[in-house]
Amino acid sequence: MMIVMKRSAREKEIASVEERLSRDLPELHLKRIVGQELTVIAAIGNADALVELDLESMPGVDRLVPIDQPYKLASIETQGHKNSSFSVGSAEFGPGQFNLILGPCTVESEESAIETARLCKSAGADLLRAGVFKPRTSPFTFQGPGYAGLGVLKEMKEETGLPIVSEMTSIGQAEKIIDVVDVIQIGARNMSNYPLLQAAGQMKKPVLLKRGLSATLDELLQSADYILSEGEERVILCERGIRTFDQSSRFTLDLGAVAILKEKTHLPVIVDPSHAAGRRSLVEPFARGAVAIGADGLIVETITHPEKARCDANQQLDAENIADFSKKMRELHRSL
Ligand code: PEP
Ligand code: MN
Repeated sequence: MMIVMKRSAREKEIASVEERLSRDLPELHLKRIVGQELTVIAAIGNADALVELDLESMPGVDRLVPIDQPYKLASIETQGHKNSSFSVGSAEFGPGQFNLILGPCTVESEESAIETARLCKSAGADLLRAGVFKPRTSPFTFQGPGYAGLGVLKEMKEETGLPIVSEMTSIGQAEKIIDVVDVIQIGARNMSNYPLLQAAGQMKKPVLLKRGLSATLDELLQSADYILSEGEERVILCERGIRTFDQSSRFTLDLGAVAILKEKTHLPVIVDPSHAAGRRSLVEPFARGAVAIGADGLIVETITHPEKARCDANQQLDAENIADFSKKMRELHRSL
């Protein structure tokens, strides 16, 4: 529910509404939104119990407006129709910003990871990506180096000064990755792993949340609510392709999702063209579409020697094309 205060409402009156809500309904999530003219309190939780409180009779309260969407904290209304902005190291997410997250699918070896980190930095990456726990479809394929890869992530960071994005696949990993990983990635297969989302939301680190293979956008936003409701406001959404009847690319990149999410949520939205494309030749055209429709950034798999990669070899960009690719994407973003 949105509690809209009168234009004339004073700080004392706003605070007493918040106090009343915290006292009578302590389970509610409260968020004060201060607009240029109005102050609104977003109160998420039991709307029926909230209506019973008869807040409209309190001084300074104008009216109650229900939040109609199933997602609440992620809703653009809850942020007063303003987009979120936050920084991750020296990278800024928010209106007008554009971030390139480059790096290997997974840490393959120390040498390859460091060489790739240097390549990505020189191509202009804002953040580096590299998985150590890989959610593979088959248990018989390379699962990533696991904890042994954390030292390599640290070296990649030290070598480049760039923040590291890496996937957490189980709650038990949180304690060990927290000192190394700067952005916690929740992969597509775990978008609906609610306890994992809650654990990620408690880590006091930004979270990159990827859309599930068959998830609707409202489901994605409700998953974001799990993270936001733990108090972590730095959530980045990622469209990475969905399952459809057409198998001609690895997944079907739902570009429209970017524009729709921009209407629904205040959170930044980036696109992963690599996993949608599944092959190198499609990565750039998919990425161009993503930038053109308004994505706030791209996460693109890149490695120095894709021919040797044990994971997602066919879709990773390499030393031949990453600098040119990055330059084109930034120019396209600027021109728009
Ligand atoms: C990844 O980015 O490493 C990955 C596994 O992607 P997704 O979860 O989108 O499949
Ligand atoms: Mn991959």
